[in-house]
Formats: sequence, structure tokens, C-alpha cells
Amino acid sequence: MSSYTVISLGAGVQSTTMLLMALHGEFDRIPDCAIFADTGAEPERVYRHLEWLEEVAGRHRFSIYRAKAGNLMEDLRQAASGQRNRIANPPFYVKGGVLEKPEAMGALMRKCTREYKIDCIIRAIRERLLGLRPRQHVLKGTQVEQWIGISLDEAMRVKPSRHKYIFNRWPLIEKEMTRADCLEWLAKNGYPEPPKSACLFCPYHSDAVWQEIKMQSPKEWQQVVELDRAIRTSLPKVRGQVYLHRSLQPLDEVEFNLHHSDNQSRFENECEGMCGV
Ligand code: SF4
Repeated sequence: MSSYTVISLGAGVQSTTMLLMALHGEFDRIPDCAIFADTGAEPERVYRHLEWLEEVAGRHRFSIYRAKAGNLMEDLRQAASGQRNRIANPPFYVKGGVLEKPEAMGALMRKCTREYKIDCIIRAIRERLLGLRPRQHVLKGTQVEQWIGISLDEAMRVKPSRHKYIFNRWPLIEKEMTRADCLEWLAKNGYPEPPKSACLFCPYHSDAVWQEIKMQSPKEWQQVVELDRAIRTSLPKVRGQVYLHRSLQPLDEVEFNLHHSDNQSRFENECEGMCGV
């Protein structure tokens, strides 16, 4: 029987803490490697953090692989301009279009997480860890333990693996660690606080996150404003008007409400896989 252990790395607070704790020997074993599913659309600060983490891991002779299914930002731009006729949409907000009623509103079904993150990690496990070719069967007796960085306060996101040979494990929950505990552990060990990991244009952003991008990163703000305009009426197979912000207004016209409780990030309840971890 062959068994492997892999970390699903989102490069946010929880999975960064889990990886560093593993390198500090705080779990029962050190995994074989970590895999970061790169949508190509993370903010600059996340890529900087990932480079730092790769450096730290490298000092322990531990490998972090970047797995990529494409560049979601670029793929969306191409879909909006008619160069692609299929796209795994993020859960963008839509006005009209539902049963063709102009007043109807809703959100697109989220397909991005599966295609750009979950399946991407599975492919990397098969190819890099198990050395399999596409569609080649996994050898009988192969077991992969996949560590997922979900903390106690996000326990509702725990889900078993859909693959017979992969067993999910949540080491932070085993240690009863919350997100705050992770931050405390990082600080105690002299590590910096990781940035929040999510695509730059993710419609699950809270108003506080949108405001932060607007105020702190003019170049990235320009990119999301342009994407918001580009997707309005031209995504393949989508009727109605599409928006990044739940107010169904152009992003650069939204007055962000930083105090209303509805404006919390929706990751805790709605994102699965690695998104927001
Ligand atoms: S962060 Fe948001 S946009 Fe990116 S893959 Fe996850 S749900 Fe989709």
C-alpha cells in the first residue's frame, strides 16, 4: 500500500499556519508536499506572501507546487470579448435574465472553485504525487491524506473528499484552533500575518475588502472596475446584466457600507474548497 500526505494550500491565514506548524513538527507527521491552486487572479500581496512561504519551506527542503488551470481573470476577459464560448463563472450577481423578467435578480452558479481550485489540486495530486497520466487509474491500495486549513470557527465548511483514494483531514480543527489562534501562533513564532487569499474580483468580497482594494491598490482597482464593465452583458450563455457587487451597481459607483452586518465576507458560509482559506 502506498500512502501520501499533501497540504492543500490557499496561502491565507489558516493554511499558512497549518503548513508552518507542520514544518515546526507540531503534527504527527510532515506532509510530502503542499499544492497551491493558482487561479492567476490573486492580488499581488498574495503572490508575494507565497514567494516568502516557498522560501521558508525551501529551507526545510519542503516543496510547494503551484497548480494552474488557467488565468481566471484573463479567461473572463476573453469570454466577455467573445474569444471563448465557455467559462467557469464566479458567482457574479445578475439583474434581469431570470425567466427574462427585467426586475428579477440572482447570482450565477459558482463554477470557478471546482475548475480552478479543487480539480486543479486533484490533477496535481495525480500527476505530481502519484505520477499518473490523464485518465490512468489510481493503483489499488493508494491512499492520499489531504490536509485542509479550515479552523474551528469555519467548521461548517468541512466536507469529505469525493475521491475514494483521498481522505480529507483538518489538523487545525483537531487542535481546536480558531482563526484568532492561528494569528496568535504566527505572531508568537515571529511570522507575518498572511493576506486574505481570494481572486481580486471575487463577488464574495465584503465591502471592507472592496474598499481596501480601492484605497490601497489603484492598479488592481482599475483592473476590477474594467472587468466589472466588460462582463456586463457579454458572458457566454448568461442573460441579464452581470455585476461584481451585490448592489447591482457598477463597481466604481458603489458607496461601500463598512458598518452594515450584511456586508461581511460571504466566504465563511458559501465558499468551499480552498477559496477564502
Ligand atoms: S475566490 Fe471567488 S472568484 Fe476565486 S475561485 Fe473562489 S469563489 Fe471563485
